Amino acid sequence: VKYVYDFSEGDKDMKDLLGGKGANLAEMTRLGLPVPPGFTITTDACRAYLKDGEVPESLGTEVTRYLRAVEDKLGRKLGDAKDPLLVSVRSGAKFSMPGMMETVLDVGLNDKSVEGLAEVAGDAHFAWDSYRRLVQMFGKTVLDLDGDLFSDALEAMKEKRGVKLDMDLSTDDLKELTEQFKEIVKEQTGKPFPQDPREQVDQCIEAVFRSWNTERAHIYRRRERIPHTLGTAVNICTMVFGNMGETSGTGVCFTRDPSSGHSGVYGDYLMNAQGEDVVAGIRNTHPLSDLETQDKKSYDELLGIMRTLETHYKDMCDIEFTIERGKLWMLQTRVGKRTAAAAFRIATQLVDEKLITKDEALERVTGAQLTQLMFPQFDVSADRTMIAKGMAASPGAAVGGVVFDNDEAEAFAAEGKKAILVRRETNPDDLPGMVAAEGVLTARGGKTSHAAVVARGMGKTCVCGAEALHIDAKARELRIGDKVFHSGDTIAIDGTTGEVFEGEVAVEDSPVTTYLTHGLDAGLEACKGKKEDEDLVHAVARIMEHADSRRALDVRANADTPEDAQRSVDFGAQGIGLCRTEHMFLGKRRKLIERAILSEPNSQARQDALDELEKLQTGDFEQMLPIMDGKAMTVRLIDPPLHEFLPDLVDLEVKVAVAEAKGEQCEEDKKMLLAVRRMHEANPMLGLRGVRLGLYFDGLFELQIRALIGAAARLKKEGKDPRPEIMVPLVGSVNELRYVREEAEKIIASIEEEYDVKLDIPIGAMIELPRAALTAEALAEEADFFSFGTNDLTQTTWGFSRDDVEGVFFPEYLEKGILGVSPFETIDRRGVGRMVEMGAQNARSTKPNIKLGVCGEHGGDPESVRFFDELGMAYVSCSPFRVPVARLEAGRATA
Ligand code: ADP
Ligand code: MG
Repeated sequence: VKYVYDFSEGDKDMKDLLGGKGANLAEMTRLGLPVPPGFTITTDACRAYLKDGEVPESLGTEVTRYLRAVEDKLGRKLGDAKDPLLVSVRSGAKFSMPGMMETVLDVGLNDKSVEGLAEVAGDAHFAWDSYRRLVQMFGKTVLDLDGDLFSDALEAMKEKRGVKLDMDLSTDDLKELTEQFKEIVKEQTGKPFPQDPREQVDQCIEAVFRSWNTERAHIYRRRERIPHTLGTAVNICTMVFGNMGETSGTGVCFTRDPSSGHSGVYGDYLMNAQGEDVVAGIRNTHPLSDLETQDKKSYDELLGIMRTLETHYKDMCDIEFTIERGKLWMLQTRVGKRTAAAAFRIATQLVDEKLITKDEALERVTGAQLTQLMFPQFDVSADRTMIAKGMAASPGAAVGGVVFDNDEAEAFAAEGKKAILVRRETNPDDLPGMVAAEGVLTARGGKTSHAAVVARGMGKTCVCGAEALHIDAKARELRIGDKVFHSGDTIAIDGTTGEVFEGEVAVEDSPVTTYLTHGLDAGLEACKGKKEDEDLVHAVARIMEHADSRRALDVRANADTPEDAQRSVDFGAQGIGLCRTEHMFLGKRRKLIERAILSEPNSQARQDALDELEKLQTGDFEQMLPIMDGKAMTVRLIDPPLHEFLPDLVDLEVKVAVAEAKGEQCEEDKKMLLAVRRMHEANPMLGLRGVRLGLYFDGLFELQIRALIGAAARLKKEGKDPRPEIMVPLVGSVNELRYVREEAEKIIASIEEEYDVKLDIPIGAMIELPRAALTAEALAEEADFFSFGTNDLTQTTWGFSRDDVEGVFFPEYLEKGILGVSPFETIDRRGVGRMVEMGAQNARSTKPNIKLGVCGEHGGDPESVRFFDELGMAYVSCSPFRVPVARLEAGRATA
């Protein structure tokens, strides 16, 4: 295997092998830019080292060869006593991991070569400064000694001499300091600081390899989802010196402003300095523009190179440079990190400058960045006191009075006051409170807990799992440390960071959201004359327009209420892909369902309850259909097990037992208890729900269908254009679907006759069981469309019960790397994805043009959207708030 590449052998596309830094050093070398000669040791070598615990033998000989080539080119030898070549040994992985790994400068100096360097440079001060830096860095990063040992000694020396800056120490001071540093090394490790230059290089290489596995590197990679298996490359680069007096210096710069995106001269530098001095903040840096007066030649050259790099990479680059006695050297470049806002601005600016096409601009931004721009944010310059930290579960900034339950939340909302619902954890019962509240804060549960999932679905700010919270809902008391909050006391939660603050914190609205919901003019107006924001709104608008013009996928929304339907349309949804009717049976209507369940089959009481429900449900559709006029509205018939509408079994048993012990009357409760026991299921997720419930419990589906079709018929009569679709949940067999279809067709026909209108109502099924996907060619005989319910399909394909696994062992699975990401967040291509793909193929084998869509959380996830686009789905459906993200990602998938 070839383990080493000269800078002149690689290029920017070899990041896997050479790491980001190495690949870009190679690219700059190829472009003819002034890069100090050097070479890169591949990630292959690192992986071999990590596997075997030792450096591969052939690496040593290869390094010798490449080192000699550099020596020959420069006419100097590594660590030579007279005219030494010095190198830096720099880590550089595929993905940049700022501050995570190690770099050692000035390698090759020893007791002899330091004299040679002093001689050649004509500057003993500089030479000894470099040597003491080497011993210090080597001690800290290669030998793993406590950095304070060195910096304390340095501070002590400065104090003794009465100087403030490192550079103000005399040459003799530096000599003495170097001796002290070497002494520290010997004392701490029992071995002297290695004098053999090659030995130094080899130890540095191994240290860089090792640094891949430090704990902080592990934590960083986990957070950034960087695989632990990649390994790092090592770059050996000839030293150039920014610390050779006042005509030397070092700095960093960007080809344009990384926060606004404006082009111009952005950067900082320091004269007479080396390496990290600029970012370390020891001395005050100068703005790059000052360099023009100090060293015009280098300044002009640097500006030219910045332009070259930006033209070449067609993107904003960041750059590290060093000037050695008036000669400019490039030490690093890469496509620069940027804020979400800058990403949009830069992308459109590059289009204007004709450096990239509009399609390429779509690649430069992400749905995640758009999401960031959509949430209101706390004004970070405001005074605020953090009192707890939980998980950033659903982004946004919410301020309001503490409330502990639905009633309080709704009372607050009724008075127009903002509330934060604080619960130990949430369950479906808390839905009304969550709707009424401004934000949700829980003490338990992770990013996929009920609170988090529902809040994200609603676009509501949520912090969950803030363990410092002690909640006593009965006493209406929230304790955090020694602070106590009661109902109405103001707190603020930041769903983007997971922080919880005491009291009021100023919130800023997002003009991007105003644009997305109310159009360009409104968005611009919301900027209140702030030029930066106006630029941003324009940029987002241009990119969204292009995404919309490119995308093959339609984007629909999941919406169950008129408000959500309106929001969906505002956010640009092309229809409703999933209207969950069970949400319409909560709240006060729950009593009606209870009555229907508790009464005898075929009894008048049951019929009355069902009639009442039908009336209410008709009202729901009469409100929603006009909002969706001319757009598809897919209504899913009732899905969850009925007992979800009944009281909790354990609660009820306790209640009855207590009442009986006290000798109180409790006939009603007892009757209820019997019913609840009868309906109780050991595994409700796989029990009596979906189509099974519809077939088992007469009248339920029928009332829903009559309500929907009746409402549509009346609207049609009025000249409107309602487009409802009937969707049957949890179908596993074509016989189930046929049965429901026949019933539905009868109802539709009778309503058509009653109103004398012709309706065209597609009837389709959700594909959320493996069997449905496996037999989709049969199901297709009875279906006009399919919608893949990928949440349930993930549960049923994996055999995971989402509510049970996510908080419990998923964290462990993610930690151990068994799962890279939760399959509920991003579609599991290999398994669940395959199931979807098979389902689509099977369905098309019967009906080539059958309409296929996807509903569920995955519809708003970038990775997943890409996958559904590849499968040629007609649409994805996601929560209203994620519609713009899905539009953008669908555009990116095509472009
Ligand atoms: P990081 O990945 O943290 O940026 P680098 O490998 O780029 O680490 O090096 C750290 C610092 O040392 C940077 O400021 C860089 O410019 C400087 N540096 C690295 N190699 C050399 C060199 N050959 N000559 C001079 N300075 C160098
Ligand atoms: Mg760097």
